[in-house]
Amino acid sequence: MSIDELSRSWEEIQEEYEEFRNSRYDRTVLDCAARLAAEPGGTSAYVWTLGLVLMARYVAWVPGEGVVPQVAALKANDTALRDRACDHESHPYSGHAERDDADLAQLLPELADETVEWRMDQPRDQWRCPHNVAGFARIAMDIIDPGSVEDVPPRLPVDAVDTLAALLHGYPKPWTDVEEEITSHARGLSYA
Ligand SMILES: [Zn+2]
Repeated sequence: MSIDELSRSWEEIQEEYEEFRNSRYDRTVLDCAARLAAEPGGTSAYVWTLGLVLMARYVAWVPGEGVVPQVAALKANDTALRDRACDHESHPYSGHAERDDADLAQLLPELADETVEWRMDQPRDQWRCPHNVAGFARIAMDIIDPGSVEDVPPRLPVDAVDTLAALLHGYPKPWTDVEEEITSHARGLSYA
């Protein structure tokens, strides 16, 4: 599959993450995780890592059996990559907010194709740097298991966003315990 095709298949899973144990999605996630595990420091590692970020919401939802452990095993890669020397002062992952997830599927083929005009602030090599790959791997982990990693921008757990957003807009859902709704997220963020 080309990066375009991969990116489109991952984007579908990103958008349709509320699927229950979709075996086609499971195979796609496992294939991506296996390719990253085969070459964690390789030249294509950024492709597989961003793929996992795209699919992480599905993995955090209700994937088939065995999917979560396979993806969680990739945590070992982070340790191997994050201490490699580089000359960059910063990396894109450190400013990557939840809302930026929506751009990743389009960004990925552009990142891989040097002939396409590059529109992001930080250059391609900063995106492909092992430090950045390790950072995005941690972001994927954080989506799957909130608060389980350090040094990533904090984000709210997927299932909490709707309830909190409704409260903050002044229309809390009927079952919302206002104090608990606010303090539970504050606790989650402080752990993260
Ligand atoms: Zn770097």
